[in-house]
Amino acid sequence: MNKVIIIGAGPAGLSAAITIAESGHSVLVIDEYMKAGGRLLGQLYEEPNGNWWNGIKESQKLLDKAVDLGVQIILHTPVSNIESINGLWRIYTEDEVYLTSHLLIATGAAETPLPIPGWTLPGVMSVGAAQVMTNVQRVKPGDRGVIIGVNVLSSAIAMELKLADIDVACITLPKMNTVTEKSGNPLDVMNSLLHLSHMAPSTFVKLGSKLMKNDLLKKMGITFYPKNGVKMWDIPIMLRKAVTEIYGDGAVEGVKIATISTAGEIIPGTEEKIKADFVCIAGGLYPLAELAAVAGCPFYHIEELGGYVPLHNERMETTLPGLYVAGNITGIEGAKVAMSQGITAGLAIINSKDGGQQEDKLKEAVNFIEQTRNKAHIQFHPEVKVGKQKLQKYWNEYLISVKNKVHN
Ligand SMILES: Cc1cc2nc3c(=O)[nH]c(=O)nc-3n(C[C@H](O)[C@H](O)[C@H](O)COP(=O)(O)OP(=O)(O)OC[C@H]3O[C@@H](n4cnc5c(N)ncnc54)[C@H](O)[C@@H]3O)c2cc1C
Repeated sequence: MNKVIIIGAGPAGLSAAITIAESGHSVLVIDEYMKAGGRLLGQLYEEPNGNWWNGIKESQKLLDKAVDLGVQIILHTPVSNIESINGLWRIYTEDEVYLTSHLLIATGAAETPLPIPGWTLPGVMSVGAAQVMTNVQRVKPGDRGVIIGVNVLSSAIAMELKLADIDVACITLPKMNTVTEKSGNPLDVMNSLLHLSHMAPSTFVKLGSKLMKNDLLKKMGITFYPKNGVKMWDIPIMLRKAVTEIYGDGAVEGVKIATISTAGEIIPGTEEKIKADFVCIAGGLYPLAELAAVAGCPFYHIEELGGYVPLHNERMETTLPGLYVAGNITGIEGAKVAMSQGITAGLAIINSKDGGQQEDKLKEAVNFIEQTRNKAHIQFHPEVKVGKQKLQKYWNEYLISVKNKVHN
């Protein structure tokens, strides 16, 4: 019962576990996947300094350290429910109910689907599934793929597929409808892509992106954007074409694609076919926060953080006693930010257990999150800092409402 429990063995959960175990407290980490590491396992890219970020190696380092420190890790075990009874958190799994006074939820993120005619055909998968197949399970999802959805994640994973010698015919938009909305609007997509320019291998693309600072230039950029796309890592990124259908007889054979206007409307008579044996759908990521919701955390929808996030402060404390959050559940960011949040949550937990002795370290850890965010190679939402400020405002309002209740 004195063990701290962490749900999620991704970079946030493992970093928190290490921090807590280093201070002599016992920790149990529960994860539903067969390996520890979470979404870090699938990551593989070259950083601006020329070093390679290899998610499998980084996960192994975290796991080894946690195991050396005596952290108990249970895999293959989904947590289906949590509730607080008499000041203790009950964590429900199929075989057992665990109890703790201090619980950290670090369940990460999930992918947003984009409904497209033909998406139930065998050979259609989320872009994250293609990443796991390629980088974690070392199985090719196919020989030639089309990625539908142009965003940070799809660009990063397209590059990873190329590294594995898998042909990516193009990355392109979905046909715009009420669900695909922003993902199908060329101007919105271009806006969201401009902060990605540092990842571009071509100086031309880097320069072009930097020049497009104002709205008029952006509108011109999309008006004159080449219909057959601009190549990054030799993959055409098509912002003026959209997939209208995934076709195939019993399995994916290709996609039907049409030219679109700058507003995203299909231009009649422009439809053509692109052959492929697999299709990836990339609708973006949102925080996976159901467990915090069933626990009763208040939630706010913050676009800049990727969706609904549980209310928490910069120390990763929620409004519920003994409940903490860290990593992508608090907003979509890269693994290094998740790790720094895990360390902070770990210190906040020790601080609460040890009667406030970790205050200085905790302040340092909070600052370290900000520094890590400033240096992040991949930023899923360019306005993430605005999102964090909104959250802080909601937290301040919550504190005032608590004070008012005490006074009345
Ligand atoms: C498909 C996908 C691809 C991504 N690719 C990249 C990338 O290429 N580069 C990048 O920088 N970032 C990427 N990210 C973002 C990534 O989430 C962060 O980089 C980082 O891994 C977040 O760490 P985390 O610890 O918060 O969550 P995660 O790494 O997602 O770990 C969460 C863990 O919680 C477990 N879990 C979830 N729910 C439960 C439950 N109910 N019971 C038990 N266990 C549970 C999961 O199995 C998982 O192991 C990707 C995210 C996704 C979803």
